[in-house]
Amino acid sequence: MKYLTGRPQAAYDVVVLGSGAGALTAAATAARAGKSVVVLEKASLLGGTSAVSGGMLWIAANHHAREAGFEDSTDTALDYVRAVSRGRGREELLAAAVTHGDTMLSFVERELGVRFLYLDNFPDYRQDLPGSVDGGRTIEPQLANIVELLGDLGEHVRSDGRAPFTMQEYEDWGAFTRFPWDELGARAESGLVAKGRALVAMLLAAAVREGAHVAVEARGERLLRDDGPAHDAGRVTGVVLATGEEIAAREAVVIGTGGFEWDRSLADSMLASRLYTMCSPPTNEGDGLRMAQRIGAQTRGTREAWWAPMSITGDTRDGKPIGTLLRFERQGPGSIMVNRHGKRFANESQNYNDLARCLQSWDSPNNTTLNTPAYVVFDEAYLERYGILSHRAGEPTPQYLAEGATLAELAGTIGVPAGNLVATVERFNAFASKGEDPDFHRGETAYDRYWGDGGNTWPNPSLAPLERGPFYAMEVVNGAFGTNGGIATDGSARVLDVDGAPIPGLYAVGNATESAYAAGYPGAGATLGPLMTMGYLAGRTIAGQPAAYEAALAGAEAAR
Ligand SMILES: Cc1cc2nc3c(=O)[nH]c(=O)nc-3n(C[C@H](O)[C@H](O)[C@H](O)COP(=O)(O)OP(=O)(O)OC[C@H]3O[C@@H](n4cnc5c(N)ncnc54)[C@H](O)[C@@H]3O)c2cc1C
Repeated sequence: MKYLTGRPQAAYDVVVLGSGAGALTAAATAARAGKSVVVLEKASLLGGTSAVSGGMLWIAANHHAREAGFEDSTDTALDYVRAVSRGRGREELLAAAVTHGDTMLSFVERELGVRFLYLDNFPDYRQDLPGSVDGGRTIEPQLANIVELLGDLGEHVRSDGRAPFTMQEYEDWGAFTRFPWDELGARAESGLVAKGRALVAMLLAAAVREGAHVAVEARGERLLRDDGPAHDAGRVTGVVLATGEEIAAREAVVIGTGGFEWDRSLADSMLASRLYTMCSPPTNEGDGLRMAQRIGAQTRGTREAWWAPMSITGDTRDGKPIGTLLRFERQGPGSIMVNRHGKRFANESQNYNDLARCLQSWDSPNNTTLNTPAYVVFDEAYLERYGILSHRAGEPTPQYLAEGATLAELAGTIGVPAGNLVATVERFNAFASKGEDPDFHRGETAYDRYWGDGGNTWPNPSLAPLERGPFYAMEVVNGAFGTNGGIATDGSARVLDVDGAPIPGLYAVGNATESAYAAGYPGAGATLGPLMTMGYLAGRTIAGQPAAYEAALAGAEAAR
């Protein structure tokens, strides 16, 4: 174990496991209330998946939207998340996440100094469901200077190596081929970071400012529990690290150890579908889930993950192969996705969680996957316009792309029926030229169009024909940002035992737990929004403070 801030202590009020956004929000909230806190991170780098994420938060009825004149209400949002969670959400968690989201946001802004930008037109992911809106619920971190915020500690925060730009800028600039790369290089030089790294840097700075100690290479392995005859027998009293070291928690242990996606055995046995790849840090191995299970915690929602279509392109994290998330590559006008039969099977522009579910379909008569592997298919004109991932037209074709002078040749290379692929593209092209997709309705919703190219010359930002060879294909499989089921909690993030009673002294947040939105993905930021809200609620509950920070403020004002 290596302390990066503070000196080793045998006991703290609060021991927090993990250093993602859930853990850090809980840590900083408790520390702000005067609790002594230690953050123990298993990896040598801080920030987990959160630090390499887009950093967006989905917060219904948030005050930024309100100030911009956008009409929203928690009731409307509740209707929406109930629909999105497909009847599998628990009302207590749905309500906690939606009702306290904006409270958490106000708290982290005012008390912890985390700064956000409001994205006014980022549409919810399911425009077809009641209560959805076409903008106003997604916010993102402002650019942050990690050197000024954290000094040398900043070097211990995970990075995805990408240039520092905001989602708002992405929207303005459009495709990567139009980015001001020189300016972005200068930003990086000056210490500016964006997205998830900015979010983690600001949360970490707040936790440290409030006195939290932070250690890396500190893997929590077991929970200590008071089994004595006292009235609080059964209370969780600390953790045992993999090194055998014990750290006592006078008031609470918070598990924020991320999902179990990197543990093959857990993933195979619990997830609803085979997970081919993921892009979180490999240290997310379900440790927290196991720790809680050992002392009788209830588990829920373990079939689910934050699913996403991904390609295997040679990307690595901590030396392990990870999946590459596909967005514009499948949503930009002029690319389509086909299955192993050379046929389209879904609206390629829909949100990644629902599209990935289509990859999971099973072809029972043939006892094989129906749509996995799938292929993103595009032509030379698409490559010239947008590039694909970091590959640009004119460069040598990377190993993850198959190439064919004609569609039939490409079909032969990837092993799909040539006749089907040619027919699929001909049919798609005929409609795409008119801006239509009667087969899968691509480009019909605000969500699809947001992710298309507003500057294209065809009638629909999501659609363009594939006409000029050579043609290319990239294999796509079912991947995930992380799993999102596990430890069951109540609406204050207290861990529940198998009978539904809270286990005293034990809290859990984030992907180590059952997602507040169950199987659903309401919009951009719908993992970080609720998990930071639960982190906030954990911190407040541990500190004996009310969930309603605004009310607390008003109360304090009145008392003066
Ligand atoms: C490319 C990408 C983009 C994304 N964009 C967004 C977005 O814009 N908005 C959004 O809402 N979501 C986004 N996500 C998903 C989001 O990042 C995750 O759902 C979220 O960060 C999970 O947070 P967490 O706090 O639960 O865990 P994590 O951030 O994964 O942190 C868990 C930490 O716990 C540590 N740990 C594990 N075991 C132990 C142990 N035994 N002891 C101590 N520490 C341990 C891990 O090493 C890790 O650092 C994205 C994900 C990816 C990969």
